[in-house]
Amino acid sequence: MSTYDLSYILNELGEEREHYFNAVAPPIIQTSNFAFKKVEDLHRVFENEFGAYIYSRGLNPTLDILRKKLAALDRAEDCLVFNSGASAIYASVVSNVQSGDHIVSVKKPYSWAQKIFDQTLPRFGVATTYVDGTRIEEFERAILPTTKLIYLESPNTWDFALQDLRAVAELARAEGITTICDNSYCTPLHQQPIGMGIDMVLQSATKYIGGHSDVVAGVLTGRHDMMEKIFNNELMAMGNGISPFNAWLLIRGLRTLPSRLERITKTTHTVIEWLRSQSRVERILFPLDPSFPQYELARRQMSGACGLITIVLRAEKMEEIVTFCESLRHILMAVSWGGHESLVMPRCASIQPSAFDAGNEEHRMVRLYVGLEEAAYLVADMEQAFAAMS
Ligand SMILES: *Cc1c(COP(=O)(O)O)cnc(C)c1O
Repeated sequence: MSTYDLSYILNELGEEREHYFNAVAPPIIQTSNFAFKKVEDLHRVFENEFGAYIYSRGLNPTLDILRKKLAALDRAEDCLVFNSGASAIYASVVSNVQSGDHIVSVKKPYSWAQKIFDQTLPRFGVATTYVDGTRIEEFERAILPTTKLIYLESPNTWDFALQDLRAVAELARAEGITTICDNSYCTPLHQQPIGMGIDMVLQSATKYIGGHSDVVAGVLTGRHDMMEKIFNNELMAMGNGISPFNAWLLIRGLRTLPSRLERITKTTHTVIEWLRSQSRVERILFPLDPSFPQYELARRQMSGACGLITIVLRAEKMEEIVTFCESLRHILMAVSWGGHESLVMPRCASIQPSAFDAGNEEHRMVRLYVGLEEAAYLVADMEQAFAAMS
């Protein structure tokens, strides 16, 4: 049995059932602290908190079951779990830069990553250059002697722009620059950035890993020494780890991750096929659709894609897009994605109504997340919402 066999990872790895009554589901070790009999034992564990149970701001046995599974899924040496994806971004970025350093980031990364680059880090003397990540030359041109970090997100979650992860990793290695990739869209099941040479991989576990829209969490994986440094600095200092209960919810989410993604993949294809025939749909963006501008690259580095689709609606006025979204009776209008429930998010929600420009394709984008419902249920809901537009 390979340590990396998916069924083994999700059902057994890290679980020591003989220690807890052979219970199939692991216990939630709901404790803040752990007791010691000997001072010399305290001496030993204080030398490195990243290897002992002392206090649940750091490690906890329920959490460790999850860490082992998530590290194995990414083929990584080690893993840290945070109380949000944003926390994982913050800790991994901050741990790798100091005053005077420079970061190269893909343009329009996840909004709160951009906030760190634009608002927080400049106060500490760290500058960021954004690049259109679709061309490797852009990265080559942006790198400075002070560049310490390249921040990637492939695909992103609006227009699904990709970066060639192997090419960027190779360039970064040659220049001694650390790479981080946000892999939330794909999860380790559909993309393996570490295998392509990326140093650290993060994902919002709020999305597919949790999968039920009931927990906010983030995952970071990479080399043991990198995880240890972040644990002993940012994670312990900010106290942004995860609670035992939320770790347990993520273990539960992992059990069904492959079946959920399989189901969502099927439904996504049915929904895309139907959307193609809709007169109100001008364009469909989806990385594994042959019409996608980076389709070849997507096929090369991703083994799957599902759930998130962006449609560009044919509309003269913002009101028409508003009518479509507000007419949906079952598909909810909400941020986030990756749960059981289908969602829409219109791009125009982040644009001042007076600034709406029908000539700008981006303003007419509506992101659709396909959840676990029946395809026919979603299609019928969109059909009546399209009808309401005219
Ligand atoms: C949601 C999301 C995040 C942030 O994760 P949280 O768990 O919400 O903090 C980061 N990156 C991407 C691509 C996301 O979709």
